[in-house]
Amino acid sequence: MATHGLLTGTTNTHIHYLSENKGIHQGIITPWLRLVDAAQTAGFQLSIASGFRDFDRQLNIWNRKMTGELPVFDLQQQQINLTTLTTEEKVHAIMTFSALPGASRHHWGTDVDIYDPSQLNNGQQLLLEEWEYQGNGPFAKLTKWLNENAQHYGFYFPYQCYQGGVAHEPWHLSYAPLSTQFLTELTPEILASTLHKHEIEGKAFILDQIEQLMERYVYNVQEVTNG
Ligand SMILES: [Zn+2]
Repeated sequence: MATHGLLTGTTNTHIHYLSENKGIHQGIITPWLRLVDAAQTAGFQLSIASGFRDFDRQLNIWNRKMTGELPVFDLQQQQINLTTLTTEEKVHAIMTFSALPGASRHHWGTDVDIYDPSQLNNGQQLLLEEWEYQGNGPFAKLTKWLNENAQHYGFYFPYQCYQGGVAHEPWHLSYAPLSTQFLTELTPEILASTLHKHEIEGKAFILDQIEQLMERYVYNVQEVTNG
């Protein structure tokens, strides 16, 4: 059993930092490095854009989105005018792209957002947008390779397609042997008791709807493919 601290990102004792800000769960160091090696042999520089994020970081993002300090977009990438929305509408709009603090898979260190820096031209910024991973996008070939090979190293894409919860995130890779375990262990009760202790925008609504929100945005992920 994982601790509540690990499951909700309120501790980082399970995290190994490959470099500053690039943290992964200690248990995925070996499989991750094997995947990086295999990708390198295939001609890719598989890299982490974002690994472990803690509860406070996710809480900061959440509260700034709820208050309109950070922009929120819809599935057509149009900015949403939050001032016209109810709390319920805001929560759903935000959860399509951002996890509730305490319920981000990035808390676990088993999930990473990936890219290939060698495919970016001088000065080209990584945006983490769908087009970069499709068609003629800079990471389309890497994505295709990962879709064919990642499963042999234990990795898969939990947000492979939009199924009414979190948007399609072709950059979000997960180490299934650990993340499937943590997903089962993170119950609505554990999340609720953590959120209860923090100043989170929309708290009353979130706590009231915690089971429905988790069903739609946390448990509603792609099934693991076996390699
Ligand atoms: Zn991610």
